Amino acid sequence: MSEPVCCQCESPGPLHNLYGYAFCDGCQTRLGLHSDKTILKNARQWAQTESGSYEDEVTDRLLRLEKDVAKTKVKLFHILARLGELT
Ligand SMILES: [Zn+2]
Repeated sequence: MSEPVCCQCESPGPLHNLYGYAFCDGCQTRLGLHSDKTILKNARQWAQTESGSYEDEVTDRLLRLEKDVAKTKVKLFHILARLGELT
């Protein structure tokens, strides 16, 4: 089994586990994670201008992103499979 590496730059670490993804210090910093203050500000603004909760909206965004990633991965797997047959 291979040693874990940063999911972005493949550095061996030290690594931080962020929701199942390994990030090195530099890549974690470059993520630009929102501060608690920013998250609360965005949630308050959402509540004033939109229906539904900000938490539901963020959850929906994550689900849409996962569906898009699945479509793109299947397209790329299909290309590789066809190349394996055609070449
Ligand atoms: Zn990294």
